[in-house]
Amino acid sequence: MSNVPRENWKKFSGWYEEILLKAEIYDYRYPVKGTGVWLPYGFELRERVYSYLKELQKKVGYKEVLFPTLIPEDLFRKESEHVASFEKEVFWVTKGGARELDRKYVLRPTSETAMYYMFSLWLNSYSDLPLKIFQVVNVFRYETEATHPLYREREITTFFESHSAFATADENEKEVKLAVEIYKEFFDWLGIPTIITKRPEWDKFPGAVYTIAFDTILPNGRSLQIGTVHNLGQNFSKAFDIKVQLPDGKVDYVWQMCFGVSGRVITALLTIHGDDHGPVFPPHVAPIQIVVIPIPYKGFEEKVLSKARSVFNELKEAGFRCILDDSPETPGAKYYKWELKGVPLRIEIGPKDIQEERVTIVRRDTLERIRVMERELISSVKETLEKMWKEMKEKALNFFKSKIVNVKSIDEAKKALDEGCVIGASWCGNEECGINLQEKIKARILGIEVDQDLNPQKAFSSVCIGCGSSAKYKIIIARSY
Ligand code: ZN
Repeated sequence: MSNVPRENWKKFSGWYEEILLKAEIYDYRYPVKGTGVWLPYGFELRERVYSYLKELQKKVGYKEVLFPTLIPEDLFRKESEHVASFEKEVFWVTKGGARELDRKYVLRPTSETAMYYMFSLWLNSYSDLPLKIFQVVNVFRYETEATHPLYREREITTFFESHSAFATADENEKEVKLAVEIYKEFFDWLGIPTIITKRPEWDKFPGAVYTIAFDTILPNGRSLQIGTVHNLGQNFSKAFDIKVQLPDGKVDYVWQMCFGVSGRVITALLTIHGDDHGPVFPPHVAPIQIVVIPIPYKGFEEKVLSKARSVFNELKEAGFRCILDDSPETPGAKYYKWELKGVPLRIEIGPKDIQEERVTIVRRDTLERIRVMERELISSVKETLEKMWKEMKEKALNFFKSKIVNVKSIDEAKKALDEGCVIGASWCGNEECGINLQEKIKARILGIEVDQDLNPQKAFSSVCIGCGSSAKYKIIIARSY
């Protein structure tokens, strides 16, 4: 590892990309721009992360499905705002073999139009509701800017999209709040701090009534959108003619919402907890939690190795995901290798440890060495992992808080943004003022900050930062990916 400080703005993407390859997570050298390959170690990480989110959603009634990748042009064009926004960035399928197709297809950029056609066939009565489904698929967007592995791609991997339909606006609104709760729980489980905002009108999901977004802050001070929740109202149900008969006999369009996350969650996980030696995985997510490394010494080779084996077996029996590295490499080379893989704990066993009936535990995050009695191995490992995780979360949260600054003037805003911060400001709520402000400070208004119940946060200053008129809301502004 070339010791690239992750705080360094210019070298940030160098650090990140090096980690993806060297830790064997994701290989982006595939010869199609903006695509990549999940490697076995990365895939296992991805599985662990997404299985928790699946579990959270299944608990509240979501069922997993799988829709086709191809969407016929006429379906794609049904919701006008949606198509206007996505049209420029979709991949078209226009030929089948040598023949031009009469009916063109798009490769799904997201699945509303594919799913809601089927909803119109499935839903007839209020008793068919609520309908709650999700799928984990790849989606395609013809990205014209520079692409980056996992956070700006043409084939977006691991798009975890959830869609639901309800009989009333009220139930639908409640589901939006429930989805926000689910994501809060999910990101907290990963130790990824987030700001929740309501996206401005000009930046909401095309076809939505409104969009709630989760953004995190990367080590270089840029924000990364990692989850969104959209209230679609009846916009899509009207376009796709999804109607049900209600208990009072009347027929009405259903109310819909959807929410999604993508491989960006992995980008956040790697960069937020990582350091100059590589990633540091939360113990409950790490594909390998503990590596046992024998430190051979002349005359003690057999003893050391047999002790290492018994320690490894004891850990394995206690349910830890662990490996024994008894390869012929030097201990130093092994430290380097497993640090780079983000393995939370390393246990070293040398002649001195054997003499004293101890083992040496090394924490990946602090590289702190802790010597414990061998008979207390399991309890010490559990305790160390718990303490480590608690401190990792605290560290991430403290860093996050230190990166958000409230400002009152354009000059203060520019200065804070240039210093790699995300800013809070007071705003009037006027769209034209917002768009001008974005241009003046060369940054993006993420949205109006909201609390858990989606109530907008009030302005902390009486004057709008953009136009000087009376301020209503607190907004969050960032240089974003
Ligand atoms: Zn204003």
